[in-house]
Amino acid sequence: MKNTDVRTRMAPSPTGDMHVGSMGVLLKNYAFAKKNGGKFILRIEDTDKEREVPGAIGRIQDIITAYGLDWDEGPGKGGAYGPYIQSERMQLYTDMANDLIKKGKAYYCTCSRERLETLRDSQRAAKVPPKYDKFCRDRQDEVSREIAAGKDYVIRLKTPDNQDVTFTDLLRGKITFNTASIDDQVLLKSDGYPTYHLAVVVDDHSMNISHIMRGEEWISSTPKHVLLYHAFEWDMPVFAHMPIYLNPDGKGKMSKRKGTVSAQSFLDRGYLPEALLNFFMILGWAHPEEKEILTLDEYIQHFDPKDVSSKSVVFDLKKLDWINGMYIRQLSLSELETKIAPFVPNTFPTEMVSGVLPLIHERLEKLSDFEELTTFFIGDIEIPTDLLLKKSTASDVAQQLEQTITGLEESTDWTIESIETVIRSLQEKHNWKRNQYFMMIRVATTGKKATPPLFETMQLIGKPGILERLRTALQNCN
Ligand code: GLU
Repeated sequence: MKNTDVRTRMAPSPTGDMHVGSMGVLLKNYAFAKKNGGKFILRIEDTDKEREVPGAIGRIQDIITAYGLDWDEGPGKGGAYGPYIQSERMQLYTDMANDLIKKGKAYYCTCSRERLETLRDSQRAAKVPPKYDKFCRDRQDEVSREIAAGKDYVIRLKTPDNQDVTFTDLLRGKITFNTASIDDQVLLKSDGYPTYHLAVVVDDHSMNISHIMRGEEWISSTPKHVLLYHAFEWDMPVFAHMPIYLNPDGKGKMSKRKGTVSAQSFLDRGYLPEALLNFFMILGWAHPEEKEILTLDEYIQHFDPKDVSSKSVVFDLKKLDWINGMYIRQLSLSELETKIAPFVPNTFPTEMVSGVLPLIHERLEKLSDFEELTTFFIGDIEIPTDLLLKKSTASDVAQQLEQTITGLEESTDWTIESIETVIRSLQEKHNWKRNQYFMMIRVATTGKKATPPLFETMQLIGKPGILERLRTALQNCN
């Protein structure tokens, strides 16, 4: 195989918003195709009509684009192997299922839902794994007559009895299973739709997919797919099942129960797409020099699915926050201003945003931190008295506050320098303890112990606001 023949794919079902884990897998498919000068295909697997969510197909495309990624062939793009939406490929699945019937590899089944339920109940009672009992396999003449008379039917694969079947997973090596544990799976349902198993194999083959990289949760389906490749006598693609993400607390598969998990929800929480991609890159894979901050190009250059660890990985939010902070700091102030706009609360004066950003740029881990880091710039603040009086007494602090209010009132300018001059000269003149006095002013004007640089902050809050806050603090001393 030439490198350029590398064709990877992502095959989401439009059953809801894309999970972050899927975005992580998508990135790997994308990167490996790019690395080899191959193609990355997006295919929509919408054959389970009951679970389809209206609008989900559009949202899948939007979220991939929002993460700054793209596909070479697929919906909206076309390509030589289209259509790329399974519901538009129905004839192919029917033809393929019929082909297997002709080859004697599949059969019609008219078992009713009731019969299958009774069978399942008795298997459950006998504590044996539920499995179709192949009732229709050897009565095909009768079945044909039932179908001619209008009975519903499905097409099932004739799974060979008691055979070892093997496939290789790039991350795990050889995996062998025995067909005794595998059902005569349904290929075509009674509504005419293919099952996922049939459609995925037919499409991966007919779209010339060379590498199937998907989440580990599909590993148990792969034996069924392998049997289909055998039945069709098709070459198998390379399989690589990617580790699943565990909840940030390390417990269990990352799931909705422990917070939102959609790829969109992370953008809504103020993570930058580039930072998220960087985070996905290093979850379960390491750059040769163990670089943790790397560009998409660097990743594409080095990524190989066989180097991914097969162990599940914890979705470490602290790490993600750290990476996101690094990416935010790489933004210019004007880029930051654009990106942060959706996170600026309506109550925050628009004209203050550009002044505030340089003061909080270093401290933002997520764009959504804006609100928490800036509420004290506007409106009423709480001034904790214990912090205000720390390392001093109420009367000394009151005196400091009175002097500061007078000094600032008298100052005609309101620049960072003029404020600094007033405060520093008062401290020197009265020989106040510097740390105590500066901290007290910080608490009185912001309500907080830790803020951006004091004089810049005071300048931005404005003279009337600062004087009002100092007066309120003074009242707190009495
Ligand atoms: N349609 C499946 C999904 O929703 C695709 C699984 C696969 O990649 O084979 O994830």
